[in-house]
Parts: sequence; C-alpha cells; structure tokens
Amino acid sequence: MAQKIVAGNWKMNLEKEEAFDLVNQLNEKIEESTVRVIAFPPSIYVLPISKMSQGKFDLGVQNFYAKSAGAYTGEISIPQVKSVGGSIGLIGHSERREYFQEGNEFLKEKVDAALENSFEFIFCCGEPLEVREVGEELNFVKKQLEESLFHLSAEQMWKAIIAYEPIWAIGTGRTASAEQAEDMHANIRSWVEEKYNEETAKSVTILYGGSCKPENAKELFACPNIDGGLIGGAALKADDFCAIINAF
Ligand code: PEP
Repeated sequence: MAQKIVAGNWKMNLEKEEAFDLVNQLNEKIEESTVRVIAFPPSIYVLPISKMSQGKFDLGVQNFYAKSAGAYTGEISIPQVKSVGGSIGLIGHSERREYFQEGNEFLKEKVDAALENSFEFIFCCGEPLEVREVGEELNFVKKQLEESLFHLSAEQMWKAIIAYEPIWAIGTGRTASAEQAEDMHANIRSWVEEKYNEETAKSVTILYGGSCKPENAKELFACPNIDGGLIGGAALKADDFCAIINAF
C-alpha cells in the first residue's frame, strides 16, 4: 500500500528566526499519526533544523545537483545533504522547471543520482493552464513521467514518490477540484501499472499539490488515488500545516 505523506515546501521564505520558530511550533503541534511528515526548508537551515528536530518530521531539500562533488559553483550534492541530516529531495518542481529551465532530461539525471545515492525523492509533475485549456493535460504529464521517471526498473519505481501539481493551482489560491485531481492521479497510477505492474502501481505514493489548505485537504485526501499533499503556502503556518496533516 502507498505510504501517506504530507510534505511542506517552504520555498525561499522565512529568515532564520522565523524558520526556527516554525520548527519549534511543529515540534509542539505535530501529533502522533500514521501520516509521514516531511519539511523542505531552504537548504541552509537543514543542519540547524536537524539538530532541533524531535523526530516528528523528516527533512529534505528543495533542490540538489546530480553530481557528487566538484567545480559546480552554487550547487549542493546529495552526499552533502545527507551529511547535514537531509534524507529526501524535491525533483522537478514547476518553479525549478520554469525559472531555472530544468528540463525532463536534466531531471532524469537527478532521479538517477538519487537512486544511486540511496536518497529519497519526490518527483513533481503538472501542466500549465494553457495545456489544460486545450485538454492536453494527460499527454503533458505522461510525457514528463516517461522522459524522467519511466526508465526506472520496477524495483526502483517502488522508491519513487510522485507529486501531481497543476501549475495553474500553485500559489494561486485556485485548487484543482477533488474530481480533477483524482482523475489525474488515477491516470498516473494506471500508467505505472501499464509500464510496470499492479503491485508497483498500488505501492507508489502520489501526492497532490496546488493551493491545498485546511479547508480542502479532507476532500482531496479522501480520494482513493490521492495519498497526501505537497504543501506550499499553508506549510508556513504551523496551525494550517498541522490541520492539513490531521485532515487524514
Ligand atoms: C508547491 O509549491 O509545491 C505548492 C503546492 O504551493 P502552494 O500550496 O502554495 O500552491
């Protein structure tokens, strides 16, 4: 069965004291639950946050480079992330795709690097508004998966976590309806089944991301193919984030 996850992507928000304050609140407010919680703070905070952690959430990075070390100014490697307490990374967030021109082939290298280094990852996919408006969203998302993820073996695919994040819903306040989200998630699961097998399809975690809030989380998480959420804006407020966790 797919694991249930609620992950918070803090993006490039919060200065040090604000970040630490949020961690203290999360330490206090996250209750025992069967849902796995992950925080993706800006990477410069991973080391101090790992020291503050009470084990209530795992720590990850919003970005990393596929090479292990060397002359790559400004980048951070998986071994470096692991050495400061991070165990998981985001790959292919739409903001990385859009503002930093990260394409499917480049993202595939990160997927391979993560697997080689026993590093977990959440692979983000999702279509822009103009693609949905012409009814091409399924082909668009399938291509993202085919070009960056579906080269994996079934055994490797078991380790993948996918986040469907329609770009038109990210940070816009406009959430995909539970029906729209479930439809895409069911399709993603069926493509995994076609490419691999039923067992793999059932085991792969598929998160929804895009203006997920305490008000809509329950309806989204009740859908059979939605295994949790990747949360942006609402992850910056401990009460909202915990309410989303508790929506399970
Ligand atoms: C995100 O950045 O992954 C995200 C889903 O953002 P928001 O929840 O703010 O739409």
